[in-house]
Amino acid sequence: MALAGRTIAVVGGGVGGLAAALALARRGADVTLWERAPELGEVGAGLQIGPNGVAVLEALGVAGRLAAQASLPEAVELREHRSGRLVARVPLGAAARARYGRPYWHLHRADLLAALADAAVAAGVRLRLGHEIAAADDIELAGAEVVVAADGVRSRLRAATGADGGARFTGQVAWRGLVPADRLPPVLARPAARVWMAPGRHLVSYPLRDGRLVNFVAVEERAAWADEGWRQPGDPAELRRAFADFGGDAGALVAAVSDCFLWGLFGHPPLPRWQAGRVVLLGDACHPMLPFLAQGAAMALEDAWTLATALDAAPDPAAGLATYERLRQVRATRVQRASAQNARVYHLGTAARGPVHAALRAASALAPGLLAGRFDWLYGCDVTRAG
Ligand code: FAD
Repeated sequence: MALAGRTIAVVGGGVGGLAAALALARRGADVTLWERAPELGEVGAGLQIGPNGVAVLEALGVAGRLAAQASLPEAVELREHRSGRLVARVPLGAAARARYGRPYWHLHRADLLAALADAAVAAGVRLRLGHEIAAADDIELAGAEVVVAADGVRSRLRAATGADGGARFTGQVAWRGLVPADRLPPVLARPAARVWMAPGRHLVSYPLRDGRLVNFVAVEERAAWADEGWRQPGDPAELRRAFADFGGDAGALVAAVSDCFLWGLFGHPPLPRWQAGRVVLLGDACHPMLPFLAQGAAMALEDAWTLATALDAAPDPAAGLATYERLRQVRATRVQRASAQNARVYHLGTAARGPVHAALRAASALAPGLLAGRFDWLYGCDVTRAG
């Protein structure tokens, strides 16, 4: 299916849908993107994009613009929540570039969406904002040879592939927001990702936009999520109560929060099928993952590139969609599982923490390369080399 002139509909204008629309249009497809929100945008929040995601942004031609907006973390630091004592440090910065040939980025989500949307429009994508698509047989999609369902974890189009049920609450909630750096200890504006680990909870912070803002994600295990929606305005007082035993810089960060959103984290087990007929799933619609490896957006970028190259090289749409599914399924499922595993390490109970933290501390001090090397399979993958 050489893509030139082929008609493709993309449903969803998040990172996955915009990247897919751009990659398909660059290969000559006639792409319309449907997004239910009246504007492309996102609540103020950051995204970590590993070198594997940066590889796709480079291939899509948007990395130059984003490099000027990205923060470059020197390391990921794992710390104890009360004392702030360092447990382990995984070098990024120059180490990531030397190891993978590309940087690790921290980006404002709005900057990433704007770069992808501008490039997509320049490549000829028609954006249809404020249009909710009810199902894969919606009249708006009638003329499309391929329908890309990039409509997020609560996908309505997923049912077209025979997937049963919706997304389920994972037992985790996340408060998320941005704090002006001038309200915080200066160390929090230094370029690094910090993770404070506590039983059943953890807090992540990293600076954005030249250190003027500090992004935070605070995750807590909970039995139930009562709200109908999956995101709601968060109550900073409730956040402070839940993280009251976090000390030092982490405590200062929690104390300084004045606005935040609360997310119920939803997911479903890996799907046996990613495509059926002309419909194909991509990003969170297909493989939602807990944010503990910070890879959901990067996986959506990898999906987008692989889908466009597979369709372009195939004799017909069905063959292209089958190739995409085959190329992506094993890796995305592995990342889904590894993200859930990281949740267990971050949230260890009081008894297990001691020995595990001691082992991490020893590994970090004696063989820092060993800790970094654990993620070579993830960050060292460049899906753009295949196509
Ligand atoms: P979404 O971003 O959910 O986009 C779906 C789009 O579809 C939305 O714009 C929605 O309005 C639209 N839509 C939905 N239904 C319809 C419909 N019926 N008709 C039309 N439009 C529709 N990932 C990282 O890589 N790094 C991180 O650091 C990171 N941190 C995270 C922290 C938290 C707390 C959370 C919750 C997630 C995090 N992620 C991170 C994951 C990442 O945000 C997602 O994996 C990624 O945004 C998925 O993109 P998507 O395009 O598949 O879906």
